[in-house]
Formats: sequence, structure tokens, C-alpha cells
Amino acid sequence: MRRTVVRLIVVLGLSTLATPAAAQYFGQNKVQYRSFNFQSIQTEHFDIYYYPDERGGALDAARMAERAYARLSRILHHQFQSRKPIILYASQSDFQQTNVVDATGEGLGGVTEFFKHRAVLPFTGSYAEFEHVLQHEMVHQFQYDVYSRGRPGAGVQTLVAVNPPLWFMEGMAEYLSRGPIDPETAMWVRDAALEGHLPSIEEMTNDPYIFPYRYGHALWAYIGEKWGDEVIGEILQSSATSGLEAAFKRALGRSLEDLSNDWRDAIQTTFLPQLGDHYRARRIAEPTLTQRHSRGRIFLAPALTPDGKRLAFFGDQGGFFVDLWLADAETGHVLQRLVKSTQNNNYESLRFINSAGPRRPERAADAAVVARRTAARLHRIQQRVHRSLHDQSRWDRTAAAHQRQVCGSPSGVVARREDHRVRDRPGR
Ligand SMILES: [Zn+2]
Repeated sequence: MRRTVVRLIVVLGLSTLATPAAAQYFGQNKVQYRSFNFQSIQTEHFDIYYYPDERGGALDAARMAERAYARLSRILHHQFQSRKPIILYASQSDFQQTNVVDATGEGLGGVTEFFKHRAVLPFTGSYAEFEHVLQHEMVHQFQYDVYSRGRPGAGVQTLVAVNPPLWFMEGMAEYLSRGPIDPETAMWVRDAALEGHLPSIEEMTNDPYIFPYRYGHALWAYIGEKWGDEVIGEILQSSATSGLEAAFKRALGRSLEDLSNDWRDAIQTTFLPQLGDHYRARRIAEPTLTQRHSRGRIFLAPALTPDGKRLAFFGDQGGFFVDLWLADAETGHVLQRLVKSTQNNNYESLRFINSAGPRRPERAADAAVVARRTAARLHRIQQRVHRSLHDQSRWDRTAAAHQRQVCGSPSGVVARREDHRVRDRPGR
């Protein structure tokens, strides 16, 4: 598990992209723009830390936390002996300034650290997504509490001895926070089945390139469906004393190898019959943005111009940083860079994981969400590009309308210009 022994993270699927590489390349400094006047709310099982900007949200979070605790403590057969800290930030930008852990980056949706069992997470603009991450991190608090026998800071030897793989820890956290039916996980698993690369449990354990969240989620969903969710608590509890293999054998009567074969069979039985009903995308379409045509490894959030001739996308062009580019929609050849994310002292980064370059059909209202110091803001991209296409006042009206619309959407992506506390981004 490498670093994750101490710090399990809930990341977005894109967390291995350019941002961590950039951070490592330039060192570990973390910019802190402001100091937070933290206060706390005590509930029966949690100390909720918040600052005045987010008091309303923190009160809701306290209720969500107790509701989640009631469910998880029943499934996992475990009660906390003391209150656990939950530290809330009003936004992703604020969250990235936390000094609870040194982890940072846009791909981090929340984090729970082992030694004090502290869960740290931001509000996302979507309560559904916030509740998912809150419950995900709370599952880690339960896991750590079981391994440390209710004493924060203890249990390091147990954790090292059990050495639970990420599919076990993160898959369990995803299953118990997202539930058994999830379109994203279904997409991953269906694709893996159809393409013939569904991993075994052994491969998930040993191959660091297999993303453990989605396959682990699918595996725990299979276990929950077949044996009932209560076996999850049994397995977690007995893994602390007997190790994983014995824990699964005792609860399910199956070795990990048998379980792996059963699970893969079940997935293939479910999805392989669909092979005859669907064309693969490459049979009816050709990729436009590719390494060969467009350089780079990352092509995100493409948005066509109204005439369909060009498209804007977030890409790395083989470098460390993700910028906003404009490409020919026919050939995929890159025409120009619209925003250079790292060499503009007005802002910190493009929110490339959850942003897009929206272009309205009635006009090209190019905009992107950027982290500008402490606030994420809707940003007009390169004025000179737009001046040649559109008049400025109309752009402003469209941008303002777009801003209102996104702020009010359930998965609000962007902060209000004057109030970044509302804010940004759906998670992992
Ligand atoms: Zn996690």
C-alpha cells in the first residue's frame, strides 16, 4: 500500500494525471492564503470542525455524519469509544491549504489519516457528492478504529501485519458510501469484461496500475449481494486478528482465489451477453484527439465551437501542466493554446478535472473554472480570441448567465464570483 498505509485517499479517477507530477517536480511547499478560525460542533460520535463561513453547511454535515454512523456501525458491528474528528473546508481551494495532512491537489476529494483518525474534506457544491465522500472517509475511520482497537495512534503493527490492499480498503469505502448500483463502476466493469481485462483479486492486490476503487467497489457489491452486507463487518473484524485470507474463508467459506473466480464469472455472465448487442466505439467512429494527432497524454472536456470546426480541450501536450488548447475538430491538430495555466500570476490552476470550456451555440462563450488565489472563479479565456469572434458585452452577459446556472446546479462546478464559499466541483 506504500504511502496509503498511513493515508488512504479518496481520489478522482484522474488523480494520476499531471498535477501530482508537477507537485513532485517542484517540491512539497503548500501555499496557505488565509488562516481559518476553527470552531467545533460536538455530536454524539463526532467533533465537527468548521469555520464561520461554513457554519450552515457544518450543521447539515453533523446531521449527515450521525445518520451515516448509525448505518455503518450496524453493518460493521462496531462502535466508536470516543468522538472522531471531522474537519470541514468550505471549498476545494480552502481544503488544499489544510495542514492536517500534506496531501493536496485537485484529484483529492477527501482524506482520513491514521494516527488521529481525522477525516478532512471540503464541501463540493453538491450535497450528494459531499455525503458520498463523508461516508467514504467515515468507513476509513471505522477501519482504522477496528485495527487500532479504538485507540487512535495504536494499531500500526496490526495495520502492517494485515497489510490490507487498496481494493479491500477503498473498495469497501466506495461500496458502503455509493451502494450497490453505480453507473461509473458499472461502466468500468462492463468495459473490462467486454475487452477481456477484468482483473483477478491477486492482480488487484499486486498490480499498482489497476485502479482499486472501481473494481474493489464491484467486488464488495458482489459480496454484499450474495452474502449480505453484515459479512463485511465480520470480514473487517476478523482480518484484524487473522489476516485477510482467513477472514474471507471464515465469513464466506471461500478462499480469495475461489472468490476471485466466482466474482469474475458473475461479471462475465452479466455483461458478456451484451457483446452481441453493442458496437465498440471504434467500429463506428475514430478518435479525434490522440497522442499521434494532438501530442500529449491527456485530452479532457472537449467542447466544440458552434460551427463544429474546432474544439477546446484540457491537455498536457506532453508536458507537466494541463492547459486549455484549441484544436482542429477534423484532424485533431492543435491550433493554439488558449490558457497557459502555470505562468499567469493571476491564478493558481485550471480546475481541469471538473471544468470544461463551454461554448454556447448562440455564441462562443468560452469559459473555464480556475483557481484564483483563494477562490475558484469562472474565467473568461483570452480576451483577444473572443474579440475577434464576438462583442465583449454579449460575452459578459452569457458568462454571467452561465455562472448563475452552474452555481445553482446540483453538481455546481463553479463558485459565485463574489462568494467562493458556495462552491466548487463534484468529486472522484
Ligand atoms: Zn478512501
